Amino acid sequence: MCYCGTDLTFEHCCQPYIVGQRTPAHAEQLMRSRFSAYVIRNADYIHHTYAVEKRPENVIADINDFAKSCRFIKLKVLNSEENGDLATVEFSAQYFYQNLFCQLNELSRFEKRDDQWFYVDGDITPTPDLKVGRNDLCPCGSDKKYKKCHATG
Ligand SMILES: [Zn+2]
Ligand SMILES: [Zn+2]
Repeated sequence: MCYCGTDLTFEHCCQPYIVGQRTPAHAEQLMRSRFSAYVIRNADYIHHTYAVEKRPENVIADINDFAKSCRFIKLKVLNSEENGDLATVEFSAQYFYQNLFCQLNELSRFEKRDDQWFYVDGDITPTPDLKVGRNDLCPCGSDKKYKKCHATG
């Protein structure tokens, strides 16, 4: 199954966008492929799918550092609306950052320019990070202890 949570394989879902074979027809597909790109650590794709004016503040090195320091668990798309060249996608993404379990809840804005969707920005609903002990149940839902599941080191 694709990293973005559809029941398609990665090859039939996000990969064609990330490798540049196709461009997403819908903002939600772009959003999903950006999440998958974080999982496979393709900072270049993430950078180039930002709206052009947002790229200077989202440099490839920083995206790469963030992607490398996270273990992504899952993406849930909660709502997605498209209106001509504007779109919003509301999602929740779960990941581990060091020994913190993090949940990113965001309402993202997308714009279509020259027939291609780009990520512009988003409003984040702050959710407290959860510190996970090595003997705690892993918050990913596996029913295993954290140290036997998503813990590092
Ligand atoms: Zn996908
Ligand atoms: Zn886990």
